[in-house]
Amino acid sequence: AKRSAPFGLCHISEEGFKEFDRYLDIKSKLEQAIEHDELSIVLQPQVTHDGTVSSFEALVRWYSKEFGPVSPGEFIPIAEESYAICEIGDIVLRKALNVISSFMKNGLNTSIAINISARQIVMPDFVNTLLSRVNQFGIPPNMLMLELTETALVVDIELVKETMLELAKFGFRFSIDDFGTGYSSLAYLKVLPISELKIDKYFVDDIGKDSDGKAAQIVDAIIEMARALNVSCIAEGVESEEQLNYLKAKGCEKFQGYYFSRPEPQAHWEGLQKNTKLP
Ligand code: C2E
Ligand code: CA
Ligand code: CA
Ligand code: CA
Repeated sequence: AKRSAPFGLCHISEEGFKEFDRYLDIKSKLEQAIEHDELSIVLQPQVTHDGTVSSFEALVRWYSKEFGPVSPGEFIPIAEESYAICEIGDIVLRKALNVISSFMKNGLNTSIAINISARQIVMPDFVNTLLSRVNQFGIPPNMLMLELTETALVVDIELVKETMLELAKFGFRFSIDDFGTGYSSLAYLKVLPISELKIDKYFVDDIGKDSDGKAAQIVDAIIEMARALNVSCIAEGVESEEQLNYLKAKGCEKFQGYYFSRPEPQAHWEGLQKNTKLP
């Protein structure tokens, strides 16, 4: 049966209703997923010029008993509407610390980057939560890279700056994720304790592809900006040798993308040696 829109002026298509049903499904099952331990992490390597794995990014996964795999692109924005994102953040943090500790036992000093949402960074207990977690797992804070997007930075500039400076004192490091897609200015970035800029996949995608070379110019500008700020630079979404060679030639220092490896569960990386080279 066809449903009609509640208000005469607004037309909602059948497709629109389906999307809304899915949204409500995900929203209502997310809490249960958190309680029932349905969330896990996968790890994607970040490599240096010679292909050595220097770190990983932890990416959350939800294998739902009811829906099958749900992509973070779908459920993270929904989680960000409530404090669910903070619970997810803490789960990912604990799982990442667990991985670091097991790598360290195997003599590997690979740090892990985790994604921090805007809502998390402005939580009053954010600093204490992080500190108590690293203490609980006995992990030095500098083994964690906290990825923040430019959008998260500007939610409450003064508060975010204070929080970052406080965490930096303890040794936590910060990477600006999806760099180039937001609005942060050089002047503002200069006062923040940043150790890395991460070039968004969007720009990497177009290297060698776009006809007027605009993407490549933006990539060049970001690498220059990293230099000006005296921070390192990593590119995400590297899928081809051509992209890699371009980025290398421009002085980008680290790379992440399917060219080297997809994100894989911890078990996949257990046999990793200090000198393993990818791809
Ligand atoms: P992101 O932080 O920009 O993560 C990079 C995304 O690009 C990941 O998607 C990764 O699997 C994918 N990717 C990496 N290399 C390549 C490549 O070469 N080609 C292509 N096509 N894709 C590549 P994923 O895992 O689906 O995550 C999507 C987004 O969800 C992330 O984007 C991040 O914003 C969010 N997210 C994931 N895990 C977490 C988390 O634990 N906490 C928070 N707050 N957000 C998360
Ligand atoms: Ca990220
Ligand atoms: Ca990113
Ligand atoms: Ca991205």
